[in-house]
Amino acid sequence: MNKEATWEYAPAPETTSVSIDDRYGLFIDGKFVASRGRTRFDTINPSNEKTISSLAEAGKADVDAAVAAARTAFRKWSRTSPLTRAKYLYRIARRIQERARELAILETIDGGKPIKESRDVDIPLVAQHFFHHAGWCDKLRWAVPGNTDPRPIGVCAQVIPWNFPLLMAAWKLAPALACGNTVVLKPAETTSLTALRLAEILEECELPQGVVNIVTGAGETGRRLVEHKGVDKVAFTGSTEVGKRIALACAGTRKRVTLELGGKSPNIIFADAAIDQAIEGVVAGIWFNQGHVCCAGSRLFVEESIHDTFVRRLEHRMSKLRVGDPLDKNTDVGAINSREQLDRINHYMQCGVEEGATINQSNGSKMPSSGFWCRPTFFTGVQPTARIAREEIFGPVLSVMTFRTPEEAIERANDSPYGLSAGVWTDKGSKVFDIAARLKAGIVWCNTYNKFDASSPFGGFKESGWGREGGRHGLAAYLT
Ligand code: NAP
Ligand code: MG
Repeated sequence: MNKEATWEYAPAPETTSVSIDDRYGLFIDGKFVASRGRTRFDTINPSNEKTISSLAEAGKADVDAAVAAARTAFRKWSRTSPLTRAKYLYRIARRIQERARELAILETIDGGKPIKESRDVDIPLVAQHFFHHAGWCDKLRWAVPGNTDPRPIGVCAQVIPWNFPLLMAAWKLAPALACGNTVVLKPAETTSLTALRLAEILEECELPQGVVNIVTGAGETGRRLVEHKGVDKVAFTGSTEVGKRIALACAGTRKRVTLELGGKSPNIIFADAAIDQAIEGVVAGIWFNQGHVCCAGSRLFVEESIHDTFVRRLEHRMSKLRVGDPLDKNTDVGAINSREQLDRINHYMQCGVEEGATINQSNGSKMPSSGFWCRPTFFTGVQPTARIAREEIFGPVLSVMTFRTPEEAIERANDSPYGLSAGVWTDKGSKVFDIAARLKAGIVWCNTYNKFDASSPFGGFKESGWGREGGRHGLAAYLT
């Protein structure tokens, strides 16, 4: 362990010359402070298992202090003029753009995602969310139909996962601040560094103290925060299991709750689709960010008549994906975020084999002995009742199934406890709209997949959650 990772190809590395402190504190009331209990934990680089930095674990007294700071700040921030709030959000967006390279590198080192994704997808979208919401600050009267006197809710507890660390922070912070709320944010244990760097940016932008507080820690810190009596609104993104626990804990309180949870999304390919484009859509759907994507197109439904051709071409395309050093500019598939997640993925792959499905994996470069790696994988011959067809794996593992008619495609796609997103691939516009309207999914992408925009609402049906984030719909959750 902790050996230098070695790869067989000629490297095209991004520089790693980004300053990272050995230790970080909690960001409370506009300052970095030590945790009261002095407990700490390490964050590691999942591509080589080396420790990057030591982080403070927020205990009860720290969460109390953060919520109190947010409450005090709310009195002033909620009355700050909309144009002034907009000025801060624009300033934050601009500073994120200026420091984009540094943020992308940090995201990749701490979380394992390929630099080309953190650089070209995550960080630009982070800036976009702040820009978009800056524009809303003085237009909130028009955000929610029928609500001509919208007011902020108060102190928001926001808990986010590790798959899009800074992007999830932006999705939560930008609308909350635009509407005049204050926040205590808890990033995921394995990926807190970019949220802490964002705290530095907020300081630089002179955001008033206490408006945003960031408490690092594990699940227990998150639990303390969402259950805190001083919190008015809870916004959570993470697993359905934890989401249910939060819903239970908040039931019977005055807290408003939004939950963005898991998914097992269908990607449906009709025989008349443009096959090469559809293959790229499948790749984007399941192998983007190592499949650590809540809306990943993890159930592929291919019309039976093209199944064999499609699978052959998918296998060929998969063999060209490069699993490698996340900091290499040519890497397509980076490191799995943690050992725990890798174990979970391997467990599901074992299940798939035991359930009688056929496993297909890309070979490619030899994997280094340190770090957490998983080759892009798909299973064929998957029964709709199989665990790999029903449960969220949250890794680069696709289950391929077939259908014969549009009716059967819809029925199979909707046969899931989740309902986050879906993809439909066909040459016929009329078919697209008919099928999209009948899919029980918060987002349906037509002849594309995994497209995100700050103005577009995102969220699920059924066990995929409550509420929407982004656009006008997302603002409603932060207004009375
Ligand atoms: P998770 O275990 O639910 O964790 C999410 C966050 O909640 C982390 O910050 C976690 O802290 C914290 N947490 C854990 N237990 C808690 C508790 N009892 N009370 C309050 N907070 C608690 O999920 P994950 O494994 O990190 O993330 C993967 C899941 O997120 C997947 O199921 C995925 O589908 C879902 N997801 C959904 C969306 C969406 O928009 N719908 C987006 C991204 C991810 P620690 O990290 O320290 O444990
Ligand atoms: Mg880490």
